[in-house]
Amino acid sequence: MRARFGTAGNPDGFYQAGKKQSKDMPPWLREQGLEAYEYQCGKGVTVGEATARAIGRAAAEAGIALSLHAPYFVNPANPDPDSQEKTLGHVLKACQVAQWMGADRVVVHTGALQKRTREEALATAKAFFQTLRRRCDEAGYGDILLCPETMGKINQLGDLEEVLAICAPSEGLLPCVDFGHLYARSLGALDGAAAVEGMLDRMVQVLGEGRARVFHSHFSKIEYTPRGGEARHLTFDQPYFGPDYHPLCQALARRGWAPRVICESAGTQDVDALAMQRAYRQALGEGP
Ligand SMILES: [Zn+2]
Repeated sequence: MRARFGTAGNPDGFYQAGKKQSKDMPPWLREQGLEAYEYQCGKGVTVGEATARAIGRAAAEAGIALSLHAPYFVNPANPDPDSQEKTLGHVLKACQVAQWMGADRVVVHTGALQKRTREEALATAKAFFQTLRRRCDEAGYGDILLCPETMGKINQLGDLEEVLAICAPSEGLLPCVDFGHLYARSLGALDGAAAVEGMLDRMVQVLGEGRARVFHSHFSKIEYTPRGGEARHLTFDQPYFGPDYHPLCQALARRGWAPRVICESAGTQDVDALAMQRAYRQALGEGP
């Protein structure tokens, strides 16, 4: 098992190649040499069954691993029962589409603090992710991993410790470690080899190596502001902000880990995912 690299949604290059439909993405990714695709439902789960199944068939034929991003407007850290019922509905819908597609991972945001203390918000989210997991199991989605994501804004729940605490109790929860988000919310501190090794070691301590080594991941360079954290996603060729992708690719190769790394660059997800894949393969001793 090796790391797989791929794109979040459809990059500019896909449209420049004259393509429009997401079912054309898996073969196109394969032509580029990539191996993973995260289908975006951030603005809502609107895709129908026929389209979802067509994307799934195309991905299976092209050997592309599929994941799905659940809507952004969930808040698992909100204890209000109406809010939790809505979040549950969005996640169940996302799992339904994932099942049609044959996607094995659904990424879920961890929520906003909204005047609650971090401790209160974390306790709520920890308990609610257990509920989400149980309800997804009961609905027949037991083989789809839910992936709580590390978030980029300081007023959101979801630093690495919080996401690991949410995931620890259940094997059906696997962290989505967004390294750009962690870089942004730490105002640039989580960058470089020592920081990467520290984060990966911490994942092993909390989850054990078996779960840690197949983690889900998002990666992009992200511009941040001192008060808020995440401001916007950049591309690798923009020479400011970070994080640098090389230390991560080298650490994954040296450790022999097999995560799925989804590039979320602003429009150049394909080009930048390929840069990461090259760095990873070079560190494995393959390629130039
Ligand atoms: Zn996300």
